[in-house]
Amino acid sequence: MLEIQGIAVSEGIAFANAYCLVEPDLSFEQMAITDVEAELERLKEAIAQSKLELQAILTSARDKFGEDKAAIFMAHLLLLEDPEMVAAIEEKIRTGCNAEYALHEVSNMFIALFEGMDNVYMQERAADIRDVSKRLLAHLLHVEMLDISRLSTDVIIVAEDLTPSMTAQLDPQYVKGFITDIGGRTSHSAILARSLDIPAIVGAKTATQAIQHGSAIIMDGTNGKIILNATPEVTAFYEQQHQILQQQRSELLHYRTLSSISADGRSVEIAGNIGKPEDVEKVVHVAGDGIGLFRTEFLYMERQELPNEEEQFQAYRTVLESMHGKPTVVRTLDIGGDKHLPYLQLPAEMNPFLGYRAIRICLDQQAMFRTQLRALLRASAYGNLKIMFPMIATLEEWRTAKQILLEEKAQLQAQGVAIAEAIEVGIMVEIPAAAMIADLFAQEVDFFSIGTNDLIQYTLATDRMNENVSYLYQPYHPAVLRLIKNVIDAAHKQGKWVGMCGEMAADSIAIPILLAMGLDEFSMNASAILKTRAQIAKLSYKQLEQHLEHIFMLSTAAEVEAYIKKNLSM
Ligand code: PEP
Ligand code: MG
Repeated sequence: MLEIQGIAVSEGIAFANAYCLVEPDLSFEQMAITDVEAELERLKEAIAQSKLELQAILTSARDKFGEDKAAIFMAHLLLLEDPEMVAAIEEKIRTGCNAEYALHEVSNMFIALFEGMDNVYMQERAADIRDVSKRLLAHLLHVEMLDISRLSTDVIIVAEDLTPSMTAQLDPQYVKGFITDIGGRTSHSAILARSLDIPAIVGAKTATQAIQHGSAIIMDGTNGKIILNATPEVTAFYEQQHQILQQQRSELLHYRTLSSISADGRSVEIAGNIGKPEDVEKVVHVAGDGIGLFRTEFLYMERQELPNEEEQFQAYRTVLESMHGKPTVVRTLDIGGDKHLPYLQLPAEMNPFLGYRAIRICLDQQAMFRTQLRALLRASAYGNLKIMFPMIATLEEWRTAKQILLEEKAQLQAQGVAIAEAIEVGIMVEIPAAAMIADLFAQEVDFFSIGTNDLIQYTLATDRMNENVSYLYQPYHPAVLRLIKNVIDAAHKQGKWVGMCGEMAADSIAIPILLAMGLDEFSMNASAILKTRAQIAKLSYKQLEQHLEHIFMLSTAAEVEAYIKKNLSM
């Protein structure tokens, strides 16, 4: 038996075979051939097989993810039918090259050609050619290509890393969990795993080396443990743990009908974080008090171009209508950092989390920003919309973003478009500078939502994605607690409300502290809502206020954690 320890990021226990997502070996040698016809036949066969495969992927992608996401496979099929490209490969084979080499040469030529074009759309076709030629090469070499969008049995995905867009493609029907070598607790893949409600472990360092494709594994996403070759006793132990967890989950369902209120009567809101309109269903299922964070960037991913105003309007309207008047906080586009849009051609950066991201891009590329704001304003007529801007560092950024919003609103109103009477507009507090001058912001914004995922990484200068410095990623660090308190106090002084939509809002050690500080709204993955409601129902706000004084005298995160565990019997 072998045990690997990683960082626990999404709770639950899974038993399934490993599906190792590693790049296949597609190396080949250049050879001179004599039988041209046989080589042309090999190419023809590889094209036919690739087409069959792509047709199957296209059908399943349409079913599972819709027409939009399937479009990329249609583009790949069309490339395989492109007479110019196929003729060029055949021509090369006729000069005496083997099919692999001919394919490599011709596709490289086309890739260079497309990459050199001015038009962004054409530049992106280079990536399609790269993908298609990889598939063809795999068929020529008889190497199996792995494809996570076409699973038909239960698996646990094992990969060096999973990008947010790959994670968004995972089909929870078959993907029972995932494990990555790198990453931290608040990397977006980890956040998505929690929203899919599947166990996940990141930062497992040697997982891809130690785990064989197809081998049976057990993963414990609550404690970050991966077990290979489990003994019957260990398997029985985890089966029992799994049952206990299931039991706890079903007991929590009782809280669906209860309000979010502390034992001594302090009401708060426990809202959901979503990435796609489909996620709303999960929040509604657990009777979330609203949506505290709609990460709209996921509407922009897995596509070939920006979503237009109408598409966005429909998505926002669906979310607002499904929430039936409950508060729905939509965050404007937060791209950059670990979230990429290939078609936007963002520059590669030394420090992406400190670079060109979120509001910085939106204020720079205003046409894109204005489109999103118009879609939001139009959708506001269908529910209780609140808008917030991410990554605000300065008052100028906030004022400019708000001004642009007002301009778009005035234009739409002039055209007679219906817009909600009062739309609250706020900012995310994710940068220590903003937290420090919360008193100044509080005079102008309608609300704050504290984004601790970023706030912690910036306060402790510790990359949220880097498992080697994850020990410094400390939500209970006195500096983080002081910043949060500063924001809440400043807002309350001006009669404004404060939410938290970072992962800390669902952290059972942090919840008593946040409640005591007076946090008004806790926003989290739908799967954590009932557990949080149950925890708050057992806490007394008045008693916690006294503990808070003591907590603020402690000097380390470890002391805070120990204090909470000891005094609040956790
Ligand atoms: C945060 O930073 O806490 C947050 C909610 O935003 P994101 O995780 O999308 O960066
Ligand atoms: Mg953030």
